[in-house]
Amino acid sequence: MKLQRLTILGATGSVGTSTLDVARRHPDRITVHALTANRDAAGLAALCREFKPALAVIGDEAAAQQLQQDLGAGIRVRGGAAALAEVAGDGDADTVMSAIVGAAGLTPTLAAVRAGKRVLIANKEPLVMAGRLLLAQAEAHGATLIPIDSEHNAIFQCLPGGFRCGTADPGVRALVLTASGGPFRDLPLAELAQVTPEQAVRHPNWVMGPKISVDSATMMNKGLELIEAHHLFGMREAQIQVVLHPESVVHSLVEYADGSTLAQLGQPDMRVPIAHALAFPERWESGVGGLKLDEIARLNFRPVEGKRYPALGLARDALRAGGILPNVLNAANEVAVDAFLSGRTGFTRIAEIIEGTLAAAVGAPLPAEATLEAILEVDAWARRRAASLVERPKRAVAHA
Ligand code: NAD
Ligand code: MG
Repeated sequence: MKLQRLTILGATGSVGTSTLDVARRHPDRITVHALTANRDAAGLAALCREFKPALAVIGDEAAAQQLQQDLGAGIRVRGGAAALAEVAGDGDADTVMSAIVGAAGLTPTLAAVRAGKRVLIANKEPLVMAGRLLLAQAEAHGATLIPIDSEHNAIFQCLPGGFRCGTADPGVRALVLTASGGPFRDLPLAELAQVTPEQAVRHPNWVMGPKISVDSATMMNKGLELIEAHHLFGMREAQIQVVLHPESVVHSLVEYADGSTLAQLGQPDMRVPIAHALAFPERWESGVGGLKLDEIARLNFRPVEGKRYPALGLARDALRAGGILPNVLNAANEVAVDAFLSGRTGFTRIAEIIEGTLAAAVGAPLPAEATLEAILEVDAWARRRAASLVERPKRAVAHA
């Protein structure tokens, strides 16, 4: 059997370590080619000692030399963002797991796509910023994209065999994304403004990195996923529904023209979609057991409350308006979430900062084309704008 040579961008993170957990179970099928991390040199070193990749990249250039000394000559260590993009497109890998968090993953993900790799996309923000560019480049360079985000992986599993991301299946009428509702789904609305970062990152069903955990609490995560689904599956905004499903057992659904609805179910554990994508079109052991439906007994579904989750409405508006607005939405969200996590702004200010940044972008003299340079310019503008809104004193919050 041919060994699959795997590069993991963001190897020390939540998705990165889950990917290595699956790889560890299949030494006869997977060999780790390269691992990358941003600042956690000790974490990266430990993973390198176990998986012995040919290459390791640390974002923090100053740490690269020490890491090379620690690891010895068998592993080539490089540092910085340029090295990250080069290693993402390295000719010796077959598969690249894109699992960096946020916009920082755009340039390396694009490099993997342009090198024609099999790209497993967990890092959703690049698709929101530059979905058209990424999918057009995948087509041009023969790259295969397989979604890892649990909802999109579920949809991919429910679509007909042979479906290629970036196309649309004419038999599909609608997609239904499920949302857990995060830790504040039952909190009285009046208490939302006072919640702390510690409460926000405590997700009821999934263990994830801090940024996506806050996104789940605001439901911007579902907003980003709506835009992600639009690009991956060729669906209009109005064809993509969101339903609140507190158990996180049904990961998403596809409704066909004949009235059939197909769903994918499983435990809320990222090793399931990761193993699916690594093995595709085969099926491999992931380390996750099946469902005991008689014990679960009951699955609940309910509509999403617009007042509790204004971020989802902002994402819908941005997708409908199109152009640069999804990119602006993503950048403003990253700035606002970072400010919230570091105690510089309140939870309910996140959506207000995004809304203010979107309003300022309409009519601003910003480049409209979908080149990487133009996309990064809009991203930088939106970050500055959102940061200026973070600094503004809090508005008095009126509770209904
Ligand atoms: P995380 O914070 O746990 O890990 C992020 C990884 O990216 C780390 O290895 C970190 O070193 C690296 N990184 C961070 N900033 C970087 C930078 N500027 N340059 C280079 N590397 C950098 O995040 P996560 O929860 O694993 O999420 C990763 C991505 O996958 C996100 O886009 C998230 O939305 C998506 N995702 C995550 C889950 C999940 O269960 N965690 C589920 C679906 C989608
Ligand atoms: Mg998801």
